[in-house]
Amino acid sequence: MNDHNTPELSSTSIAGGETKDNVPPVTHAPPVALAPKPVVAPRPHLAMSPAFAALGLEPAMLRAIAEIHFQTPSEIQEKMIPIALRGADIIGQARTGTGKTAAFGLPIIQKIDLAHPYQAIVVVPTRELAVQVEAELVRFAKHKPVRLQVVYGGQKVSHDIKLMGRHPHFIVGTPGRLLDLMERRVLPLNNMRFVVCDEVDRMFDIGFRDDIRKILAACTTAHQTIFVSATINDDIERMVARHMTDPQRIFTAKPDESLTNPEAKQYFVGVQPWDKQRALKLLIRAEKPGLAIVFCRTKRSVDKVAHGLEVDGVNAEPIHGDLLQNKRERVMRGFRTGKINVLVATDLASRGIDVHEISHVINYDIPEDPEAYVHRIGRTARMGATGKAFTFVAIGQAQLQTEIEKLTNNLMEEYRIPNFKGSPEPASRLGHTGAPGAPAPAAAPAKPAGPVQVDGYMPTGFANVQPAPASVRPLGGKFPTRRRR
Ligand code: ADP
Ligand code: MG
Repeated sequence: MNDHNTPELSSTSIAGGETKDNVPPVTHAPPVALAPKPVVAPRPHLAMSPAFAALGLEPAMLRAIAEIHFQTPSEIQEKMIPIALRGADIIGQARTGTGKTAAFGLPIIQKIDLAHPYQAIVVVPTRELAVQVEAELVRFAKHKPVRLQVVYGGQKVSHDIKLMGRHPHFIVGTPGRLLDLMERRVLPLNNMRFVVCDEVDRMFDIGFRDDIRKILAACTTAHQTIFVSATINDDIERMVARHMTDPQRIFTAKPDESLTNPEAKQYFVGVQPWDKQRALKLLIRAEKPGLAIVFCRTKRSVDKVAHGLEVDGVNAEPIHGDLLQNKRERVMRGFRTGKINVLVATDLASRGIDVHEISHVINYDIPEDPEAYVHRIGRTARMGATGKAFTFVAIGQAQLQTEIEKLTNNLMEEYRIPNFKGSPEPASRLGHTGAPGAPAPAAAPAKPAGPVQVDGYMPTGFANVQPAPASVRPLGGKFPTRRRR
């Protein structure tokens, strides 16, 4: 019907295109004006990757892949895409930065039936990751009009309700916000065909286990479930056993292989807590990183360290869960565009940061959980680039270092910072030992006395519960409730 209104130029373009059957026989010599051969602009030559085509991906996906210059699939993509296209439930393990988003995103986008909204969800642990995963999926959906939306806590819920009114096919979100929208009946989960949990290990770490369970339980119709994670543990396996049917297991790190990227050279630096700030400044001066992330354990140390670097003239910014969303986005943009060289972050805030050129990861505080180390190091040397990782280790933290080395199957090399010399323990600290003038105690790793909140993670396993100060009773006698993410 529309054809009646189609300008002549277009009908010519059909003739020049796929099929000649519809072209009326030429009864007279065409006017010269019609002669120029492609009437429409020629499509840029797209070398569709035969390696991706062999996995079963269709031209719409292959064109998108070619346009973003993916040439060869990574191992997880090669193994996962064909199985995902077949519709199997999958549990996929691969190091950070190996393209897991494409491993589940490409097959799902290919399989989405455009006639039905609310068909696929990806659950991710943090807002930053939600934004990033959605942006990546948008690139894969360039040649298929899939409606994608991203939702996360910290944004007005009315905004997300409006987004749900646009009937998206594919929704990426943090667990709390997805549940909230489900409970408000604006996000139906009962027709989901594809349910993905991304970075499952991390989601479990930060206490989203129950939320995940609820989300999975609300997806009542037959659907394909995919879990991806950098590490798989027994907890994850138990959830898999409960929620998947005949799951296909795809593990890409062989037992004897390091979990961390061999392209990331890993060093440790012996430095005591009171010298760390000075050591960091000297390390940054010596290394002159292009883009670096400095990891600290608490929000407070993030702020302190970032401030110290700024005072020293380094282009550094803090990022952690207390910052307003706007500010977090501004900082991330600055980092991505190279306006900020050093990002000082907590584990949680850094999760999912996918900036290609990160040259240095510095563990100002050694992670207490060896798996967190794997995630931190995954921020550098992504997809073939090289990078360096430095971990500050105080006396008494050797055990932590050993655990990390056992998990990653990689020995860190010692690094001495040029011009750096350790200083004796300051008197203010010696006061604690009750022995002024006594030699610095070997070891005392700075263990917190009470529960210290590590950006959204409480040792109790509850995310984001701010312990009420002992002297202040919670208002109205209510228990503090868990803040929605
Ligand atoms: P993961 O989820 O495993 O940490 P991502 O999906 O975030 O990894 O991918 C890391 C980066 O690698 C992204 O910027 C992505 O665009 C890029 N990437 C993914 N697959 C490929 C590929 N086959 N070739 C080139 N780059 C890729
Ligand atoms: Mg990922």
